[in-house]
Amino acid sequence: MAITAQQVKELSQACGFELAGVAPALPSDDFERFETWRAAGFAGEMRYLTDRRGDLRSDPRNLLPEAQCIVCVAKLYNTPHPYSTDLKGSQRGWISRYAWGGDYHDLVRERLELLVQRISEIHREPFTWKICVDTAPLLERSYARAAGLGWIGKNTCLINHEQGSWFFLGELLLSIPLMLDVPPPDRCGTCRRCIDACPTEAIVPNANGEWTLDASLCISYLTIEKRGEIPPGSAERMGNHVFGCDICQEVCPWNGRARASSESMFQPREFAPPLKDLSELTEEEFRSVFRHTPVWRAKYAGFLRNVAISMGNAQDPDLREPLEKLGHHKEESVATAAKHALSVLDNRKHYIQDTQKDVPCISEPG
Ligand code: SF4
Ligand code: SF4
Repeated sequence: MAITAQQVKELSQACGFELAGVAPALPSDDFERFETWRAAGFAGEMRYLTDRRGDLRSDPRNLLPEAQCIVCVAKLYNTPHPYSTDLKGSQRGWISRYAWGGDYHDLVRERLELLVQRISEIHREPFTWKICVDTAPLLERSYARAAGLGWIGKNTCLINHEQGSWFFLGELLLSIPLMLDVPPPDRCGTCRRCIDACPTEAIVPNANGEWTLDASLCISYLTIEKRGEIPPGSAERMGNHVFGCDICQEVCPWNGRARASSESMFQPREFAPPLKDLSELTEEEFRSVFRHTPVWRAKYAGFLRNVAISMGNAQDPDLREPLEKLGHHKEESVATAAKHALSVLDNRKHYIQDTQKDVPCISEPG
């Protein structure tokens, strides 16, 4: 018996995916936009997007030549915890919502493997497949849109009109022909909340006047992918973000309806740890706390560099001592970030002293 698209979607839900749809395994119209995007230098130093691995995104059949369709799935990772924009207390560091729990790659892959098994129990003819989770060279948001899961917002996230954008995406390329879904309309309209809220002005118009992401300015890129030093102009806009940034999703009105996931692996161990504690992590402690979480991708030196920058941005004199210690760190990028952060603290101190000097004391007798 040949399986139907409807059965695959029902099986996807039974495997724990909140959204599922089917897209054609054909080149996407978005590839040209991707080419323009990377030619503009918006990919920063992400070589996997700019070298030949990026070229493979031109056609999903580069991954599975006999692919007939792509089953696109989405796994909700939202939790009921506050947003970074609600965070009170400058001494705490923000870790992006998706990175609070374990490594989602393993979970999404396991669920997709289960889906293949369930499909093979119904579809009795031979078929081939390929599972992709984030790291494969595939324009995954474009195919998720083609599969009807949502539209790509001005913040470049995939947004579902009922469930928002807090999703991990996964794909199953199949040699089975299935009925295709249709993409939903773009519902951003005249809204520009994400553009206005972005601290680094990373959402920019492209050559065609469409909104796109200059990843080289984005805090997510700077804190996760960028190695070495962060340019001072960007560092000061990073606020207290030590890993990733959620702001353009937090302000999106479509996330007002987002449900919270019941998956235990997405529940945070500590969602906004004190910066001082983070600054004192040894390499061994960093490994033991973050080895099996997305934070691991920043590497120890990158993470401590981000912590140093956040401590400077906190402008709190209590953080001077831990910053001075980081200023002697053996990793140059950490020591440089800490020294720059100390100068940010000092400038702030002088600014306050100068301001106080200039203000006349109103209780002074005439
Ligand atoms: S993740 Fe943060 S820095 Fe990047 S575009 Fe969104 S708001 Fe801007
Ligand atoms: S904040 Fe507004 S413009 Fe930005 S993605 Fe959401 S709906 Fe679209």
